[in-house]
Amino acid sequence: MGLATAQALLDRGEAVTVLEAREGVALETSYGNAGMMTPSMADPWNGPGVHRHLAASLFNPRSPMKLRLRALPSLTTWGIRFLRNSARDRHLAATEANFLLGNYSVELTRQLRDRLGLEYDAADRGTMKVFRDPGAMREPLALTRHLATLGLKFQELDPDGAVAEEPMLEDVRDQIVGALRFPDDAVGDSARFCTALSGRLAAAGTVIRLSTRARQLVVERGTVRGVVTDDGEMLSGRVVVASGAWSPALLRSVGLSLPVKPAKGYSLTLDMAGISDRPRIPVVDDAMHAAVAPMGDRLRIGGTAEFAGFDSTVTRTRIDNLAVLLRAIYPRIAAAVDFGKATAWTGLRPMSCDGKPFIGPTPVQGLYVNAGHGHLGWTHAVGSGQLLADLMTGHTPAVDPSAFRVDR
Ligand SMILES: Cc1cc2nc3c(=O)[nH]c(=O)nc-3n(C[C@H](O)[C@H](O)[C@H](O)COP(=O)(O)OP(=O)(O)OC[C@H]3O[C@@H](n4cnc5c(N)ncnc54)[C@H](O)[C@@H]3O)c2cc1C
Repeated sequence: MGLATAQALLDRGEAVTVLEAREGVALETSYGNAGMMTPSMADPWNGPGVHRHLAASLFNPRSPMKLRLRALPSLTTWGIRFLRNSARDRHLAATEANFLLGNYSVELTRQLRDRLGLEYDAADRGTMKVFRDPGAMREPLALTRHLATLGLKFQELDPDGAVAEEPMLEDVRDQIVGALRFPDDAVGDSARFCTALSGRLAAAGTVIRLSTRARQLVVERGTVRGVVTDDGEMLSGRVVVASGAWSPALLRSVGLSLPVKPAKGYSLTLDMAGISDRPRIPVVDDAMHAAVAPMGDRLRIGGTAEFAGFDSTVTRTRIDNLAVLLRAIYPRIAAAVDFGKATAWTGLRPMSCDGKPFIGPTPVQGLYVNAGHGHLGWTHAVGSGQLLADLMTGHTPAVDPSAFRVDR
């Protein structure tokens, strides 16, 4: 989000300095995500009935969305808002807003890729969601039809249609009851994107200061004055907080509360060199809440959400879950790959209490936020950067910013 915002501000003629706490860009949540750009999957995870799933998950180590008891105390106010926003009308409104931002963002990402010549294992072949239970398909289909009225393109497929789109599903054809195909979705490696983009930004004169943690915001008489880093104070009349799941900590230093919590996710990346049986498109298995996405010469299995605070240890059971998914969906690949050589990763999704990002000004003059994108941050990044840059520079944004207001 930080780099996308910097690029959009640069395009608006602004000079930007990026402060990054880590020794390189995209080493946190934007590193190993599932790589799918899916306006089609715009629905926040706190859908109607989420409280039942979360309560059941406390006692089920394999639950796709898991709540850890130790995380409960940190979730109180946020948790109440998370559950309140699962009401049908609020959930639908958030889904619509996310879809419109996502649709805009994916198109802008393509334009940026072509304009700057960014290479990040990008593919524009769309995605597909498969279902193993006719009951489970009803609600997603209704939601998809609704989003189609806002511009989402989709096809409803029977098992043969699904296999025609992704021939590697042949082995499980008899387990699939149907699928939804989204031709306009995309896929790509967000970490490679960030590395390529930071190179272009630096070449265009943007300063990217690595290993520079913002410790505190400096505010005087309601106006931002700069940022305190380990290297001292940096003065600036405008500051954007785009530090993902860590954004609330920084904002708290000036008395602002941002309802964003970390939702831990896992991915497993397999090297596919030498394996000829490869999927063509990213596939989401609805029953397993996980995705298998081809990314250049690699295959990435991503998914699961765990509310466990800022704990980023890789839990064996959760990683095993992803291997189980691969066996369930592509048994031939699972038999051919060496799981011992797979890269297991975990990242913290910055999850807002209503499933929509926070993009815009704060009550502190000159202080802005671009954070809280949850499971859609890669999809939303370039569009969110543009939206914020437009708000900061007095341009009319192409997407209605009101749904993403920071003070909502
Ligand atoms: C398993 C998994 C799968 C996912 N799959 C998808 C997907 O398929 N599609 C999709 O759209 N999204 C996906 N996501 C979500 C997506 O990865 C995130 O929403 C996105 O990466 C968030 O980007 P960000 O820039 O807000 O945060 P980050 O990528 O975490 O970046 C924040 C940056 O701020 C830096 N930072 C933090 N604090 C400070 C500080 N005080 N000073 C300076 N720097 C600081 C961090 O080091 C970090 O580099 C997935 C996430 C996970 C975990």
